[in-house]
Amino acid sequence: MGNSSGKNSSVSPSLQGSTISSRRTFIIGVIDVQNDFCEGGALAVKDANSTIARINKLRFIYANIMKTFISQDYHPPNHMSFAKTHGKKEFSKEKLRIIMEDGITLEIEQSMWPVHCVKETFGAELHADLIATKKDILVRKGTDRNVESYSAFGDEYRGKYENTLLNRKLKELSITDIVLTGIATDYCVYYTALDALRYGYMVHLILSCTRGVAEDTTENALSDMKLKGVLFYDTIDDFYDYYDKLTSI
Ligand SMILES: [Zn+2]
Repeated sequence: MGNSSGKNSSVSPSLQGSTISSRRTFIIGVIDVQNDFCEGGALAVKDANSTIARINKLRFIYANIMKTFISQDYHPPNHMSFAKTHGKKEFSKEKLRIIMEDGITLEIEQSMWPVHCVKETFGAELHADLIATKKDILVRKGTDRNVESYSAFGDEYRGKYENTLLNRKLKELSITDIVLTGIATDYCVYYTALDALRYGYMVHLILSCTRGVAEDTTENALSDMKLKGVLFYDTIDDFYDYYDKLTSI
């Protein structure tokens, strides 16, 4: 970690700037760019495919500077988020009572999704056009039948039932900033951003690299993220300008 003694006020603004940029480490986060969320998929998000080339471009620009983590929704066939599991209507909201392995009964209001991203199926695979390499950190979530994990970090109980260990991996890499992209803005991107803030990361969301399930929930998610301190960029070029300024001071 850098100098946090608070004595920086005596150095020149330019030196201050370089101190700030040199102690920040960025990573690109790619959320759930999987077949089932793309065109023709079981839970296709409108215009999701338009994000893929842009995410690839972002990766290409920062290939030597930033690592990437990729999340994958990865459910058992009888996952609690599937309408079919409960015989309910798709896209409704239902109150569920689930007895967990630790004996605790959880009362949950859960969106009922079409069956999607079932492990070891085509729908769960990353889209073939997305650049993914062996060096990327891959995290799978929603793997526990009883728990929803929209966030790439784990479930909404602070990772009590499902923890992807993403936070530990990012801390090991001394990551301070996450450049967030992927699907869907109003669910998995949103909850990943909230967890990231809670764990102390700065979050940068590139709007051209994300798409939402529905307009109203996307609007709500965006305004909440903004309120909580997520930084927004319309395009990759806008982020490029920000990063360029940050590192050239
Ligand atoms: Zn899911």
